[in-house]
Amino acid sequence: MRLLKSLALKELLVGMGLTGRYFFKRKFTVQYPEERAPISPRFRGLHAQRRYPNGEERCIACKLCEVVCPAMAITIESEQRADGSRRTTRYDIDLAKCIFCGFCEEACPVDAIVETRIYEYHAESRGELLMTKERLLAVGDKHEAQIAADREIEARYR
Ligand code: SF4
Ligand code: SF4
Repeated sequence: MRLLKSLALKELLVGMGLTGRYFFKRKFTVQYPEERAPISPRFRGLHAQRRYPNGEERCIACKLCEVVCPAMAITIESEQRADGSRRTTRYDIDLAKCIFCGFCEEACPVDAIVETRIYEYHAESRGELLMTKERLLAVGDKHEAQIAADREIEARYR
């Protein structure tokens, strides 16, 4: 029976039939990077640290994100400022460890650490995967408008 099927080229004809059916259907291929698929406002991409409109960094060094991180990817050191407020002196996220679970942004009481829509980034060495406080703030400064708009949409569904 198997030999008969093989001689009749059944599999080949079935395959060609399937190809023929999809040949005339609407194509879903996206011509990246000229075309982009839509991204959810809750997309968990590259991290960013945010500031308040007056330029003050939001993070109060409570370390909740560091505690909740299942990958132990966050390292925080902090100090008290002269005005009594507490701020980080070091805030690192090791992207080589991060699993992009989003727990850090969920835990943050002041919306300081967020995951952005950014997915186009790369590193050529392990060191480049270390997002320092300065790098995180730079991402936040550059994309604040989009981050704020996404948080607003998200807040509607809480
Ligand atoms: S996304 Fe998850 S794994 Fe990555 S730093 Fe935040 S809590 Fe840790
Ligand atoms: S980013 Fe948020 S959760 Fe993490 S230390 Fe700063 S204020 Fe606390």
